[in-house]
Amino acid sequence: MKPFDYVRASTVEEATAAYAALPGARYLGGGTNLVDLMKLGVEQPLALVDVSRLPLDAVEELPDGSLRVGAMVRNSDLAAHPVVRDRYPALSQALLAGASGQLRNVATTGGNLLQRTHCPYFQDVSKPCNKREPGSGCGARDGVHRDHAVLGHSPQCIATHPSDMAVALAALDARIELYGSEGARSLAAADFHRLPGDRPEQDTEIRPGELITGVVLPTATAGLPSVYRKARDRASYAFALASVAAVLRVSDGVVAHAGLAFGALAHRPWRARTAEQALTGAAPTAAAFERAVDLELAAARPLRDNAYKVPLARGLALDVLTRLAEPVRI
Ligand code: SF4
Repeated sequence: MKPFDYVRASTVEEATAAYAALPGARYLGGGTNLVDLMKLGVEQPLALVDVSRLPLDAVEELPDGSLRVGAMVRNSDLAAHPVVRDRYPALSQALLAGASGQLRNVATTGGNLLQRTHCPYFQDVSKPCNKREPGSGCGARDGVHRDHAVLGHSPQCIATHPSDMAVALAALDARIELYGSEGARSLAAADFHRLPGDRPEQDTEIRPGELITGVVLPTATAGLPSVYRKARDRASYAFALASVAAVLRVSDGVVAHAGLAFGALAHRPWRARTAEQALTGAAPTAAAFERAVDLELAAARPLRDNAYKVPLARGLALDVLTRLAEPVRI
C-alpha cells in the first residue's frame, strides 16, 4: 500500500474543504470497500478524509412524513430501524441481503452507494480494465463475464453495480442528498448511478469533491407493499446474479402505482420504466405482469455466457409482482 495523508473531519464543511485542499483525496466512511481496493492497489489515494465521525448518523422522520437517513447510518442499523421495516420493507430486505453481518455493522449508507464493481478484472491490476485504467481495454468482454451486464452495457465496459440497497432505493423513489463546493443538491436515486458509455471510470453523477450527506425516502411510497428478492450462488455473503425491488399499489382493481428496479443486470440499478408504464392502470393479472416484464427485458443484450440472467430476472420479477398483488385478489 502506498503512503497517504489522513485527515479526520468533524463537520460536512470541514470535510469538503479538506477534500478540496488535498489533491488525490478520497472520503473514508466505513472503509469496507475502499480499504480493500487500496490493499489490492486498485485505489491509490494520496489522502483520506475520514468522514465517519460526521454528525450524519441519524434516521429522522421529517414533518412532511418522509424519512431522512444520514449518510453515516450503518447498514445494520438502517435494516433494523422500525420505521424502515414497517414503511419501506424492500429497503430493509435489500440491506439484509447484502454482504455479511460484520460488514453491515460497519458499512455506511453513503458508502454502500459508492461501492465499486466486483468485476474481477477491475480488482486485478495485472489485467486490462477501462474502468480502472481508461483506454486499457476490457478484459471481461472476451473473458469471464458470467456475472456481468445484460442491459445498458457499452463496448468499453460490461460491469454491474454491486449494491442491493441502491436497487431498493431506486424502486422506492428515494433521493440522494449531496453537498459540495456549489452547495447542497439532491438527485433521484434512480439517476445517481450512470451507464458506462465511453466513460466507464465514472460510476455516478456525483461531482468532484461532493459528499453524500443523506438519503430521503419519500412519503409517496411510505407504507406501500414492497419487496426485494435476490438470486445468488449461495445463500449469504454473495453478490446478486439478478435481483428485483418492487413496489405495488392496487386500487379499484387496477395498478395505481408501480415501482420496479432490477439489480445486477446493468452498470446501475435498472429502473424498469417501460414495465412500470405498462403496469400502471392495468389489472394486476399474471398476463399483465408477464407483458410488462417482457417489454422491459426486450432491451437485454446478453453476452456469450450470461444469457441465463434474462429468464432469471424475469422469474424473480413475476414472482414478486404476483406476491405483492395477492392480498388484493383474496
Ligand atoms: Fe473493467 Fe468494466 Fe471491463 Fe470489468 S467490465 S474489465 S470493470 S471495463
